[in-house]
Amino acid sequence: MAKFRKIGILTSGGDAPGMNAAVRAVARKALDEGVEVVGILGGYSGLIKDNVIPLTPRSVSNIISRGGTFLYSDRCLEFKTEEGMQKAIETCKKHEIDAIVACGGDGTFRGATDLTNRGIPTVGVPCTIDNDITATDYTIGFDTAMNTTMHMIDCLRDTCVSHARCNVVEVMGRDCGAIALNTALASGAVAAVLPELPFDEAEILTRIKTLAAAGKRGFLVVVSEGVVTEDGKKYGEVLAKKIEAETGVETKFARLAHVVRGGNPTLRDRFTATEMGVHAVELLMDGKSNLVICEIDGKITELDINYALIADRYYKKKLKPGDLDAFCAEDVAKMEALAAKRHEELSVIYQMLSETSK
Ligand code: ADP
Repeated sequence: MAKFRKIGILTSGGDAPGMNAAVRAVARKALDEGVEVVGILGGYSGLIKDNVIPLTPRSVSNIISRGGTFLYSDRCLEFKTEEGMQKAIETCKKHEIDAIVACGGDGTFRGATDLTNRGIPTVGVPCTIDNDITATDYTIGFDTAMNTTMHMIDCLRDTCVSHARCNVVEVMGRDCGAIALNTALASGAVAAVLPELPFDEAEILTRIKTLAAAGKRGFLVVVSEGVVTEDGKKYGEVLAKKIEAETGVETKFARLAHVVRGGNPTLRDRFTATEMGVHAVELLMDGKSNLVICEIDGKITELDINYALIADRYYKKKLKPGDLDAFCAEDVAKMEALAAKRHEELSVIYQMLSETSK
């Protein structure tokens, strides 16, 4: 027997390929359970502006393979205010929305926990190309974005080799270097520069110079957008100029930017989106909420949203005073172990890149 009669689904924050597949899975699974489903258009702003549409099995047809989000997304500052939040609650009451599945990143989950605290049980589904939600090994959109990035770097490789050039490629990821690191390894770059790990600029310059002198044609360096100089400049552009000036290798700079946020989701993203969407509905059916769906060691599971948000700040060294007060020593130890695991994951790939890029 379903605990809820009607659930709402929204996509919020930065879009990610696979969001549509997640919405489809949530809608189909809930409808299969006999629960009515509505889509909230434009993330939390759709709740504030009462932008709500009914979803049927057919209204989510033909979206599993599409990038972007057919429910649209938005960054909604008003939702962070008590007034905005109350408008959102009013919309839920008006449409008799008993629970919400919120697809997005950490900002979206902060909104989700606010809704739960005000009586609208909410579950979060992690959708962001950056794979920067510490609690989960994987976020929907990451694989597609990495593959798109890799294909674009492959194109640059062709022309770099033809002309014996270097190309510095700035890729997305915000403060997280996962896209940069993984695509650097997979596209045979000579180096990756990411915010989480120290890098040796002089060593990169020397290596390019030495390899060029030994006859290597074509160099790729992948820089995460989150790396900035002390005076706040994007490091990728700065590095490109330095490479040309100090190695004599002609060097171009390319910023891939939002192009890798679009495109048809890969099998991995469609599959994981379906698993996570189905699990979100299962949790709500069990009367559980304020949870974020996670993939941990290959298994789809869930964690408390507050734990996930603070574990994220713990790893990113962004803890605010009092953040840990609500957690027992065991939870804090788990956060520490998780942060060490994330650091180790990056370090292992970084080491492998260094060993295979000479
Ligand atoms: P993402 O979910 O990709 O991290 P944002 O950080 O932009 O993207 O967050 C998406 C939306 O979630 C915001 O536009 C806002 O409506 C809501 N949100 C973000 N932070 C909070 C917060 N602290 N409290 C309530 N809602 C929030």
